[in-house]
Amino acid sequence: MAGTILVVEDEQSIGALLRTYLERDGYQPVWVRSGEEALTELPRHPVRLVVLDIGLPGMDGFEVCRRIRAASTVPVIMLTARDEEVDRVAGLEVGADDYVSKPFSPRELVARVKAVLRRAEPDRSADVLVLGSVELSRQGREVRVDGESVELTTREFDLLEHLMGHPGVVLSREVLLDRVWGMSYPGETRTVDVHVGQLRRKLGRPDLIRTVRGVGYKAVRP
Ligand code: CA
Repeated sequence: MAGTILVVEDEQSIGALLRTYLERDGYQPVWVRSGEEALTELPRHPVRLVVLDIGLPGMDGFEVCRRIRAASTVPVIMLTARDEEVDRVAGLEVGADDYVSKPFSPRELVARVKAVLRRAEPDRSADVLVLGSVELSRQGREVRVDGESVELTTREFDLLEHLMGHPGVVLSREVLLDRVWGMSYPGETRTVDVHVGQLRRKLGRPDLIRTVRGVGYKAVRP
């Protein structure tokens, strides 16, 4: 689950578009039409990021951002209809993390959401992968199961990192060979099977890596 995004936008077409694209990327958008509603809803959800329009009925986006900042460090991306330097500076002054000018492409906005989350939560989004009771630290190159450290070889670690980095996605043996072993092992798909077998045994969680017959493997939540 990519997390809850609070969208504060009074324009129907833009709000609906943002909701669609955020859902498509696995986020759970909570969409409100005013700043007052935003301040009410923020503490009610596990919000990871706020997308905040400046031009709102009632309290404007700057004031909303100021009030959010008084109570929370949640990342904020501000939206404005104009690409004006003064708005950009004002937005950053009230504590916004980034700024997107309308009209924008929804893809661009989602990319900004991801970038801001990466910056704001480097531990969660970039370094530590968690699947069930298995936790993998990329920078520490460490794997723990139920908090207990597990010794893996370099290839086993890389393979697990790759599978856990794409939860629910089927990866073919060829793709895994290419990405984990490089191009130096053409046709040696059996190598992948052997390493998956070792990973299952060492982790003690055989269900974590599922075999998809005739295709490859995928990491699944228990
Ligand atoms: Ca507006």
